This record gives sequence, structure tokens and C-alpha cells, in this order.
Amino acid sequence: MSFEVKEKDLLARIGKLKTKSGTVETPLLFPVINPNIQPVPPCRLKEDFGFEAIITNAYILKKRFQTTPAEQGLHKFLGFDGAVMTDSGAYQILVYGNVDVTQAEIVAYQESIGSDIATILDIPTSWKVTKEIATKTVTETLRRAKTFFQTKTRDDILWVGPVQGGRHLDLVAKSAVAMGKLPFQIHALGSPTEVMESYRFDVLVDMIMTAKMNLPLERPLHLFGAGHPMMFALAVALGCDLFDSAAYALYARENRYMTENGTWHLSEMDYFPCQCPKCANQIPQDVMAKAPKERETFLAEHNLHVCKAELNCIKQAIRDGRLWEHLEMRAHAHPALLTATKKLNAYRDPLEKHSPTTKRSGLFFFSSVGLARPEVTHYRNRLLTRYCPPADAKILLLVPQTRTKPFHKAQEFKKISKAVDANVHVCFYAAPFGVTPLELDEVYPLSQHEVTLPLDKETIDYVAAQVADYIQCTRYASVVLLHDSQLWGSSVKKACSKACQKKGISFEHVDVKAEGTKNILTRLEMILKKKLSG
Ligand SMILES: [Zn+2]
Repeated sequence: MSFEVKEKDLLARIGKLKTKSGTVETPLLFPVINPNIQPVPPCRLKEDFGFEAIITNAYILKKRFQTTPAEQGLHKFLGFDGAVMTDSGAYQILVYGNVDVTQAEIVAYQESIGSDIATILDIPTSWKVTKEIATKTVTETLRRAKTFFQTKTRDDILWVGPVQGGRHLDLVAKSAVAMGKLPFQIHALGSPTEVMESYRFDVLVDMIMTAKMNLPLERPLHLFGAGHPMMFALAVALGCDLFDSAAYALYARENRYMTENGTWHLSEMDYFPCQCPKCANQIPQDVMAKAPKERETFLAEHNLHVCKAELNCIKQAIRDGRLWEHLEMRAHAHPALLTATKKLNAYRDPLEKHSPTTKRSGLFFFSSVGLARPEVTHYRNRLLTRYCPPADAKILLLVPQTRTKPFHKAQEFKKISKAVDANVHVCFYAAPFGVTPLELDEVYPLSQHEVTLPLDKETIDYVAAQVADYIQCTRYASVVLLHDSQLWGSSVKKACSKACQKKGISFEHVDVKAEGTKNILTRLEMILKKKLSG
């Protein structure tokens, strides 16, 4: 196997990809090299920036340089001794409608120049096309993928099988299933560039997840044309391992300065937010005054530095088990990114299935966006399917979360516990995990998290729904709620009351804010005594 996974978080992985020119680490960004115009020489990309791989276009090489790259060897021709990936001309098909080269020719060309990773001549699905045309692109790409295996001659090249279908998710699924059955070493998601340019990151989430869930997970996935650092975290979290960026150079030509939070126009900047070797001792006004070529090189180099830095942040977050926190931070750079991140709620089951749920550190819960976290889904599933309350528990006493964790060590709980005996089972209702039985409250991550207060409505409603589900699945004779209306409003109380009614069991509540501490205890003791003797 050419790909070995070392670390995982969400669907992201740090992996080792073995190519004939050396092993590279994923998530990996391939800067796009245009052999005609190149602001930063390929040799410097490795030496000065640490990029282990680059991508260039085999179609352009063939048109412009014919057999020269084959005669010199691709690596020598480009002046780069890392891994070289080649694209086939599919992008030119997307832009110009057609290319004057056959799949057999472009495959043979990539073999002759000695690409490390090479691509078949797929037909990209454009963003705006009808379902009928999209179907044609999928069918033709598949036909080409199948015939490719009869004509290829080199097995030391890692071949990429692109998934097409665009925004038509059923086609993406069909394409991914069929491509996954063919012996490609790498897959790619075709043509999301237009989706990204229109900031439809939510559509991109659907496309990536559909492809990912229908492809063999052990093969790396390349996201074509995803070159902006602001969306790396989202794509990596969804399981994209490889990226290419032409944006660093294209943006530089238009005086655009990339950051992990978006793009700024150089002429509108007074300060550089970056301390890369380019920005550290310059000010925007001086860079703006440079000659166009010099300015373009400056911006291209900064853009590369910021891409590399963001990938490093993402890798560290994967190692620390904090990719979700990193993703939420980046999501707040743009409403469209947050919209996309909210979309992850629809994919919480696959996220939970493939993500490690035990971490080296505690979780930060900022808002209801975090309800899609695998740890939350994992706990809910476990509690409802595998947990049994103590056998002698007749009364469920629901106690609101305390600021101190574990909850049972909080001062306010210690007082309440005086009123409790073996027939009373204490569970805390708490965000974001819902119901926490007292005896589990030290189990990771039920105490190992921090939550933002006050809670938002979606989070309160989620906890209320968990409380109702819990009452539904268990067999208590009655439920008593310590009702904290200040933090929880009326959602939990209403959900409890409704669930008890449905179940035909009694329900009472004690308002913790309306009654003084002493009164709460007296009231609680009275209720419990009455229930236990009744
Ligand atoms: Zn910089």
C-alpha cells in the first residue's frame, strides 16, 4: 500500500504517501507550476518553503515543450527533486470545452516524462450544467477510467481516478462507487473550483462527503483547485488529503494578499498581519510601490508561506485532537464558511464513525455548531443503547449542570446529595452531552470540556431532547427536575413533562431560582419522601 495513516482526527489524517521520488506527508499542498510563467522557481519551493511536492500540467508541457521533459527527465526539466504530480488537461476541457489530445496520448505522455502521480483525462462536470450533461461527464470519465487500465504501462506511477458529478450528489455517489472499484491509488474530486469561487462551501461539504463516503477510505483524496488557506481546515476535516494551489500565483498577479481568514487587496492594507520572511521587515505601502514583477513575486512568496503555515497548524491540531476547535475558529472568518460548518450536523454519523472519540485534551464547546462533534454523537448513541440505570433506582432526579466539574464535586450538589438515597438516581442535565448519570460524570469527556455561557437556544433544545429520549428509554417510576430557569428557560421542563406524560409516570419540579437553598432542600426532601412512600 502506498498510503499509510499515522494520526486521525475527524475525517482528517496525517499520512505517509510513498511515491517513486520519495515519501511525502499528508495533508499535502502541491503548488501549481506553470512552466511558461513561474514567479517562484520550483527548486526554491522545496528548499525555502518546505514543499515536498508540486503539480504541473501535462497537457501544457506536451503542447509547449513536446519531448524535452521526457529527454531531460521531468524532475530535472522542472528543477525539482521532490514528488511531481501531473494533471491531464481536464481543467482546459472545463475552461475551453475541449482539448486536442486523446486520453491514450496524454497517459503515454505522462508515462514518458516520468510523473510520480498522474491523472487520466477525465471530463469535468461544470457547476451550472444540467443533470443530463452531468450524467454524460460521469459516464464518459468512467469509460475512460476503465479503458485506461488496458493501456497503461507503468506501475511505479500513482494514478489518480477523478470523481465527477458536480453538484448532482447522486451522480457524485455513483461516480465514486464505480471509481473506487477500479485499482487507482489516489482519488480526486473534480472541478469544485467554481463552487469555491462562488463561496458555496456548503455545497462543497455535500460534494466532498458524498465522494468520501462512497470511495475506499484507505486511498488518499485530492481536492482539485482548492488553493485558499481559509478553507483548508474544512476540507482536511472532511478527509481531503491532497490539494493543489494555483491561487497563490494567480492572486499575486492581481495584488491579492492571502491570509488564513480571507484575502486582502494590497492597496487597502496598512499593516501586514504576517511575520513570514517576506512580510517581517516590509510595510504594504513599500511593496505596493515596487515594480509589478517584483511585487508579484513578493505576494506569491507570502501566499505560499501562509498556505504552508496553515497546513502546519492543521497538522498540529490533528495531532492534538483539536481539529474541531481549529475548524470552528476558521469557520468564523466568513459567513459562508460557518454555513458550511453548520452543514456538518447532517453528517454527524459518518463523522462519528470514522473519528477517534478519545482525545489527549478536553473539548471547547462554543455554540450549537459543536453539537455535530463526534464526541457528542458518540456519547448520545452509547447512552441510549448501552447504558442501564442502577437496578434499585425508582426516582430519576435531574440536576442542572454546575460550573465546577466533575459535577458531583460541586458545592451546590453536595447539599442536594443529602436528600438523596439509593432509590433516587441522580443524573445531571448538561450541555453539550445531554444527560450525565452521576456515576459516569468523571468519564471522558463528560467532565473534560469547557462550555460557553449562556447557552444558545439550539443547544438548550438539544439537551431537552436528550432528556426526553433518556426518560423514554429508561424505567423510572417518577421524575423530579431541579429546574434552573435562568440558564435553561422552560425547554427542559416542558420536554420532561411531555416525556413523563407519554410514559405515564409522575413528574414534579423544584424551581432552583424561585426558592432559597434551604427551601429547595426541604421541598426536595418532601417530594422524594412522598414518592418513596407512595
Ligand atoms: Zn507573509
